[in-house]
Amino acid sequence: MPFCPKCRYEYKEEIKECPDCSVKLVAKLKEMPDIRFAPLPDLPGKVYAEMIREVLRQKGIPCYLRSSGIIDAYGISGMPVGDSVRIFVPEDRLEECKSIQHNMLDHI
Ligand SMILES: [Zn+2]
Repeated sequence: MPFCPKCRYEYKEEIKECPDCSVKLVAKLKEMPDIRFAPLPDLPGKVYAEMIREVLRQKGIPCYLRSSGIIDAYGISGMPVGDSVRIFVPEDRLEECKSIQHNMLDHI
């Protein structure tokens, strides 16, 4: 699956360029080590996902994002609809990341 090196979203194989950043997708994120990733619980929207991505980045935790609605939606309106976003984090730091996400959503 290709990734956007800028916003770290994962896209379907046939997508070549990130619709958000107009950046060419790469097969693998460079700084992403060869480890197993596991998803955090679904987020209600991209805004939350990007806030958490930022916190994880500051903590040096690699992650990538996947939007559930983005592909189907782009075919129809050009805009992502189903805005549920999932963040994938290293399996061995899943619990740590879960509590980060939990704490952040608690304070919104
Ligand atoms: Zn992007």
